[in-house]
Amino acid sequence: MGKLIYMDNAATTFVDKRVLDAMTPYLTDRCFNPSSIYDGAQDVHADLDNARATIAKTLNASDREIYFTACGTESDNWAIKGVAHANADKGKHLITSKIEHHAVLHSMAALEKEGYEVTYLDVDENGFVSVDALDKAIRPDTVLVSIMYANNEIGTIEPIKEIAEVCHKHNVYFHVDAVQAYAHLPIDVKELGIDMLSASGHKFNAMKGTGFLYIKKGTKIQNFMDGGAQEFKKRAGTENVAGIIGMAKATEIAHSEMKERMEHETKIRDYMIDRILKEIPYSKLNGDRVKRLSNNLNIGFEFIEGESMLLALNDLGVCASSGSACTSGSLDPSHVLLAIGLPHEKAHGSLRLTVSHETTMDDAKLVCDNLPKIVERLRSMSPLYEDFVKKNK
Ligand code: PLP
Repeated sequence: MGKLIYMDNAATTFVDKRVLDAMTPYLTDRCFNPSSIYDGAQDVHADLDNARATIAKTLNASDREIYFTACGTESDNWAIKGVAHANADKGKHLITSKIEHHAVLHSMAALEKEGYEVTYLDVDENGFVSVDALDKAIRPDTVLVSIMYANNEIGTIEPIKEIAEVCHKHNVYFHVDAVQAYAHLPIDVKELGIDMLSASGHKFNAMKGTGFLYIKKGTKIQNFMDGGAQEFKKRAGTENVAGIIGMAKATEIAHSEMKERMEHETKIRDYMIDRILKEIPYSKLNGDRVKRLSNNLNIGFEFIEGESMLLALNDLGVCASSGSACTSGSLDPSHVLLAIGLPHEKAHGSLRLTVSHETTMDDAKLVCDNLPKIVERLRSMSPLYEDFVKKNK
């Protein structure tokens, strides 16, 4: 097989070499516990503080508002369950959307089992939450709204500032799952009015097992883990020092290169969308054309299965992803594609390609040159397509 063409950056990213270099000393010569008293350990403690400050600065937050976690899933769980539990005396109603990641949806479902009520907002055909519908859904007993910044499957970017305004009008906390957006586009939590924000290191070239939750000062939230005094006594456990140092380095790099990365990715994304839609009949872009992540394309192809496309692309050395939740061990179509109104058979025929600053135009061309042939071959084996052609002769 030739060169690997990695177009699954929404699933995870490669660790940047500069990140790895920044991490190495904390796994070797400086592997001290930051809670220890001797000089070397106190230096590591200071480095952790600097990492926290670096991340806080990227969001226009203060250092004390950044809490290190192990992943985006943990951050989502903490924000949702932590606020629900700490504010149960005020009310037990929460609001989210139907296209959230399972880290959010399953946290909500767990709360439902405890007696909380959850409203799952519909989205429109491009995946947008309606700010008006949200306004109407908020009740006197609503304590939290959780809406993602950008969708992991279709890339749609939600109207975060408008949503925040509605939440604050009603005095309700607003959590944002920014796992796909943080370090990929500029975010100012103060300007946007965000109370809590989840991020995950492995989505922006840091290692897996790293993440953080921004919690605005004054937010009433339960501790995530009790134990030592780490993370301002809210999330105990000896810190993943090397991971955190690496995540801070990764975010520094991502923010300093953000403009060029976004321009590069947008160019590749648009080139691919234009070519695929033009060259492959019965194909359609899922998600909004404009308000979408610069690295995301998600295209539905009628009459074929996403999985067979993935296998054919795999043979070419292309790593991609489809619309069905096969990673979770089920072949159900994606809840996101169903929520934007696709029928089951169309949701099954979707392909997600997520590029990066490292994707080249040659990579994009190779995929675009081959995809029409793959789709044609798969359709030639499809009884559905055969019926369709017969009927339309
Ligand atoms: N939220 C969104 C939108 C995601 O895309 C993901 C991962 O794909 C997560 C949460 C979970 O993040 P992690 O893999 O760090 O647990």
